[in-house]
Amino acid sequence: MSSLSSPNADLHCHSVVSDGTLTPEALAERAKANGVHLWALTDHDELGGQKRAKDAAHALKMDYLSGVEISVTWMNQTIHIVGLGIDADHQGIIEGLRRTREGRGNRAQLMADQLLKAGIPGAYEGALHFAGNHQLISRTHFARYLVEQGVCKDTEHVFKNYLVEGKPGFVPHQWASLEDAVAWIKAAGGVAVIAHPGRYPFNSMQMDELYKQFKDIGGLGIEVITGSHSPDQYQTYGKVALQYGFLASRGSDFHDPNESHIDLGVLPHLPDHLTPVWSVFH
Ligand code: AMP
Ligand code: MN
Ligand code: MN
Ligand code: MN
Repeated sequence: MSSLSSPNADLHCHSVVSDGTLTPEALAERAKANGVHLWALTDHDELGGQKRAKDAAHALKMDYLSGVEISVTWMNQTIHIVGLGIDADHQGIIEGLRRTREGRGNRAQLMADQLLKAGIPGAYEGALHFAGNHQLISRTHFARYLVEQGVCKDTEHVFKNYLVEGKPGFVPHQWASLEDAVAWIKAAGGVAVIAHPGRYPFNSMQMDELYKQFKDIGGLGIEVITGSHSPDQYQTYGKVALQYGFLASRGSDFHDPNESHIDLGVLPHLPDHLTPVWSVFH
């Protein structure tokens, strides 16, 4: 399937530095084994794994783009903006991400309080036990604890019955602004990409507004082929890329061999008529 014009690029995944379960090195090996040519590790709000990922990728003769997935609050909802090709030592983005991570500990305590009231004790310590990076305790770590405790059979069930709006363990949170997230990425020399647009709870007018605002402030890309899109959504967001002149990205959003439906690098190629986000890095 691969050719020079269509490399196997996987530009979205997570390590133990955020809410994945594999180390950056193990991810690099898995990507290589799956035929990935161009890889980016995009941990949530964290650059701590970037040097390890880049070194491991280069040792395996894969091209590498430094990456991040920034949590953003827009119109009172959480969206994710991926930054690709950033300078991972840039102080502006390092400081911005530090502030973005800051509230996670307190949020986690409040989530645990709610779960306790719902009859599930020990969730803070339990989630922390799953967190490879205590600065980055996330809902995914709580989900793993609820599965371990037998409350749900898998994390998919957790995210239907807990930790989401209207269910026990949901704590609203103010993340970075869209403007700040895009500005940090741009200042660090990277390209900002709207992550998994098919997952947001907005109507089409609101999505249009998101694309316009994002473009106005210098956002350049959108994920078209991602682990969380259906084939129909590949079409839908391919059209959005054309309509708004966005670069198209491709990434599995891999977290864990058992939890993730889609493995590193194992997803359809970008449609030929779209401009790949990696074209700007050559
Ligand atoms: P947080 O940043 O703490 O709000 O956690 C967000 C993470 O939870 C996402 O990056 C996913 O890894 C995970 N997540 C959110 N919703 C779902 C879902 N419906 N199914 C599986 N994982 C989810
Ligand atoms: Mn995640
Ligand atoms: Mn995401
Ligand atoms: Mn992700």
